[in-house]
Amino acid sequence: MTVPTIKLHDGTSIPQLGFGVYQIRPAETAEAVTQALEVGYRHIDTAEMYGNEKEVGEALRAAGLPREEVYVTSKLNNGFHRPDDAERAFEQTLTDLGLDRIDLFLIHWPLPTRYDGDFVSTWRTLASFVEDGRAASVGVSNFQPAHLQRIVDETGVVPVINQVEVHPYFTNEAVRAANARHGVATEAWSPIAQGAVLDDAVLTEIAEATGKSTAQVALRWHVERGDIVFPKSVNPGRMKENFDIFDFSLSDDDVARISGLDRGEAGRTGPNPDTFDWIPA
Ligand code: NDP
Repeated sequence: MTVPTIKLHDGTSIPQLGFGVYQIRPAETAEAVTQALEVGYRHIDTAEMYGNEKEVGEALRAAGLPREEVYVTSKLNNGFHRPDDAERAFEQTLTDLGLDRIDLFLIHWPLPTRYDGDFVSTWRTLASFVEDGRAASVGVSNFQPAHLQRIVDETGVVPVINQVEVHPYFTNEAVRAANARHGVATEAWSPIAQGAVLDDAVLTEIAEATGKSTAQVALRWHVERGDIVFPKSVNPGRMKENFDIFDFSLSDDDVARISGLDRGEAGRTGPNPDTFDWIPA
């Protein structure tokens, strides 16, 4: 099964399907990532906030794959937005992952009501990681259109990616459109809404017609729309199921029907980035 790649505006490429490790307990992470790599995943999405970067690194080393064959993303935790803290946190991420260079590093949340609203100097700091070669690419996560516009206007540096909540119940079109205007690729987090969409009647009908599961139909919908996804699972059978989405396609009509399931703000499963201000203790 060949996973397509998406070309980013800085010339690098990212596998369109990856493996997310949010809410995988550290003790289970090395095993889960090892199994995911065995299934064929070559893109891992972690974050300092998830507390499992060391175990992701352990699994990567144990797999012994050539470094350039696995795409690794991590993210700056909310307590480290000040430039000096961001520098230290980034070094710690590299140490924990056991890498001297990361493929992609993101600001996890904009936190516009924290740090005097200054996520711009945080963004400048991330940009310096590309200049000095420790990150191949940098981007953002949970940035609303106004946040994105501001960092582009004030720094001239355009993120390669904005990783935001997107699934059939929260299609997040305004953010996807803003990303597209700037040439920023969209990564869709919680692509199956942590399971909330799996009993949906429309997805079930399309799943029956295509001989696929509702999870596969939902993931394929993201792929058809050009977004990047990394479903999480600790179950090897479901890891395989989520990987097995490149031997069928959805009609334009099916894509439109699934997009029509959008519930707007009511469909969000996570916090609203305009107000989210949580900093871990
Ligand atoms: P997902 O939408 O990937 O759903 C994961 C849940 O669905 C788990 O409970 C999993 O259970 C279950 N599941 C997975 N596959 C199947 C299947 N085929 N059939 C039935 N159930 C299934 O949620 P996540 O929130 O984990 O999102 C994915 C990734 O996105 C994260 O791991 C993380 O990397 C990223 N993310 C980023 C955020 C950000 O702020 N930037 C926020 C949230 C997520 P089980 O493990 O038992 O299979």
